[in-house]
Amino acid sequence: MKFATKAIRDGQQPDPTTGSVIVPIYQTANFVFEGVGQPHAYEYSRSANPTRTALEQCLASLEEARFGLAFSSGMAAEDAVLSILRPGDHVVASENLYGGTFRLFEQVWRPRQVSFTYVAGSDPQAFAKAITSCTRLVWVETPANPLLQLVDLRAVAQASRAAGVPLVVDNTFASPFFQRPLTLGASIVVHSTTKYVSGHSDVIGGAVLTSDEKLHEAIKFYQNAVGAVPGPQDCWLTLRGLKTLAVRMKQHEQNALAVAKFLTQQPKVREVIYPGLASHPQHELARSQMDGFGAIVTFRLDGGRADVSRFVKKLKVFLFAESLGGVESLACHPATMSHATMTPEERQRIGITEGTVRLSVGIEDVADLIEDLGQALDPLSR
Ligand SMILES: *Cc1c(COP(=O)(O)O)cnc(C)c1O
Repeated sequence: MKFATKAIRDGQQPDPTTGSVIVPIYQTANFVFEGVGQPHAYEYSRSANPTRTALEQCLASLEEARFGLAFSSGMAAEDAVLSILRPGDHVVASENLYGGTFRLFEQVWRPRQVSFTYVAGSDPQAFAKAITSCTRLVWVETPANPLLQLVDLRAVAQASRAAGVPLVVDNTFASPFFQRPLTLGASIVVHSTTKYVSGHSDVIGGAVLTSDEKLHEAIKFYQNAVGAVPGPQDCWLTLRGLKTLAVRMKQHEQNALAVAKFLTQQPKVREVIYPGLASHPQHELARSQMDGFGAIVTFRLDGGRADVSRFVKKLKVFLFAESLGGVESLACHPATMSHATMTPEERQRIGITEGTVRLSVGIEDVADLIEDLGQALDPLSR
């Protein structure tokens, strides 16, 4: 079956007892046993719950994985992957990562004697060079936040595999509709399902997908032992969002491309960063490893913080907020929001200037989006 069909049907058979077309919200903590030593398929909802199973199976299918695990947040999913590490282990990671991932590495796992080496994501050779005999994971995010740098997944997967180290890919920005890292050689995919997968900015969640049974069993053990599991209602909301992932992503991308092209023509805009533009330095790589370019558009306003402040105050359709991937369009200022915990020097080094603005382009009528950006960029309008 094709992607859009799988998103609607996989893991979601009509309910066997009632025929309910939609997987019910099994709002229960526990399940009766038939007798001593005879549990039903389910025992206790931390270990497994039917609504969660439906979500896990559907996500695994969309990422072309054998196994799926759902978590209460993207961060909980990432932490569960890191749980396979022991003191003395080493991770090679691309340097452009979601801020929360960096915090989890540096402030939670480094104090537990796990070490991290960061390399330029654009240089596959750098990953091979940084791998040591202690390296247990290679970790990348592509496209990365907020400057949309890409990692060559085939090349980095090959280098990782040659060293016998699993490659983990944070696939949140592309969603499985536009990129399926396991088919390019990665071993594990992680998602913040809070973003495109659920798609409506109304639920926090995460997922881990893999076809490696040993890795799956280890991460599943941790999921049950620690218990950062999503409740059935959250799983249901995520499943409901997932059903429209294909149509949403197509519209997101169509709108994002139109917005990116519009911005390139604006005198107040210095640079537009979007993998779908031929001007993106990794446009060809995006074409070769993705089925589309996503809907995050970053641009540099001609000016500093005061100009960004004036711009966002004038926006009427775009909301000034963190996060991304919902149906509504958002604008955010990475220097004071997602990357505020970095020092100005660190931000400068990775290219996040005061004038950098990140848009999560939604699926409203694109004419309204363009009109809104146009009036907010017009120095004469107020
Ligand atoms: C949001 C996000 C996360 C964290 O997910 P939560 O659901 O907020 O815990 C991880 N990686 C990326 C790329 C994200 O955008």
